Amino acid sequence: ATPISLVVAVGKAAEFGILIRKGEALERASKLTTVVLDKTGTITTGKPVVTDILADDPDQLLRMAAALESGSEHPLAAAILARAGDPAPLACESFQAIAGQGIGGIVAGQSLLLGNMALMMAHGIGMDDGWRDRMQALAAEAKTPMLLACDGRIMGIIAVADPIREGAQEAIAGLQAQGLKVVMLTGDMRKTAEAVAARVGIRELFAEVMPEDKDATIASLQAAGEVVGMVGDGINDAPALSRADVGFAMGAGTDVAIASADITLMRPSLDGIVVAIALSRATLRNIK
Ligand code: ADP
Ligand code: MG
Repeated sequence: ATPISLVVAVGKAAEFGILIRKGEALERASKLTTVVLDKTGTITTGKPVVTDILADDPDQLLRMAAALESGSEHPLAAAILARAGDPAPLACESFQAIAGQGIGGIVAGQSLLLGNMALMMAHGIGMDDGWRDRMQALAAEAKTPMLLACDGRIMGIIAVADPIREGAQEAIAGLQAQGLKVVMLTGDMRKTAEAVAARVGIRELFAEVMPEDKDATIASLQAAGEVVGMVGDGINDAPALSRADVGFAMGAGTDVAIASADITLMRPSLDGIVVAIALSRATLRNIK
């Protein structure tokens, strides 16, 4: 039987917009040693904005990128389509999404690829040091840079910035003050991840992780003896949310996040995790 104090705590949590599926989840939350935070949509708002377009003809680069992205549901696509504005994007044939790397397709008879350096390498596209340096410089500013290749040649870079959630730094400090290890997990570039981590006070991170490897990262932490909470928005991280000892979904995220999680944060703030864990510890202390 569920101790009455757990039932009370679940009710109390709801007042803070924290929806707990089962009393057991609250019990497990009291034992967490590590909290893993997805970067995009969790530490950041998940609403990136285009900041830089580096190309001989930036407008043309944007038009080609928008044509490709019109077939994508990725948050990066929304940023590029918003920047491209009103004119309907050019038609794109044979659209293909390559998870964790980018997208490809044929636009105006030209074969286009848009995504990270791994995507270009996977397609044997050469990249000189100039492009590499520009990618690293943008990433060092916490931006996500994407390369566009046309018929096998790099044409330019589009970079976006994804604003850090209000209060993220304070919430992360709150978790660390509870003695928890806080870790960032992302498919984004290492340099971008490091720049975001530095801004919010995170010292450990896993970057350039393919979507299908995110839950293996959680499993490896568990194998090392950690009791792991995972916070995500469900875009690419639903299996990791289920794998974790306690999965926390950002409520404004996807339905799949909510379905995969034990605890849903209805408010768009990381504060809910700090409150949920503090509440779980206080409640379990009273039961013992
Ligand atoms: P995250 O962990 O931030 O959710 P993803 O695994 O979805 O990241 O993507 C990893 C990287 O692959 C992105 O940072 C980007 O460089 C590239 N990528 C993925 N999808 C797209 C897209 N639709 N357009 C451009 N680049 C993309
Ligand atoms: Mg994500």
